Amino acid sequence: MEPADLLTQHGIDLARLEPAPHPPARAQTFARVQSAPPRFCVVCGDQAATARIVVSPGAGPRWTDWCWDHGMAIRPRCTLPATLEGIIADLRAAAREAGLPRSGRPGVLFFDRGGRRRPPKRGTTMTAPAPVPPVTEPDASARYVPR
Ligand SMILES: [Zn+2]
Repeated sequence: MEPADLLTQHGIDLARLEPAPHPPARAQTFARVQSAPPRFCVVCGDQAATARIVVSPGAGPRWTDWCWDHGMAIRPRCTLPATLEGIIADLRAAAREAGLPRSGRPGVLFFDRGGRRRPPKRGTTMTAPAPVPPVTEPDASARYVPR
């Protein structure tokens, strides 16, 4: 669930909450969560375990503090790619973001501890990975039967 949806569900007016920096900075969020005295959940009033910045079209960015349960309710959902191509695209994007050197062809590059590219050690053999079998729907009649 999106934080704004939960706030709307509970009739919480973002304009009444503390203005927040924008774009959100992780360090500022950590500092807010660890500050004393503790803050309280905007929904239920329990002690806050996390904080998020919610941007309201009318009120701008606002701090929202969340207890454990409400924090879990607004936790960003993991979106894993469903295909091998999607996984590879994600890995390539992560490599670009990390500034890793690009290779024109798929393969394995070797680097020393200083980050310099080096040839593979003698005796290193590379084999192509086994082909991935197609994903099939499980047979409804096949059930796990514990012994
Ligand atoms: Zn709460």
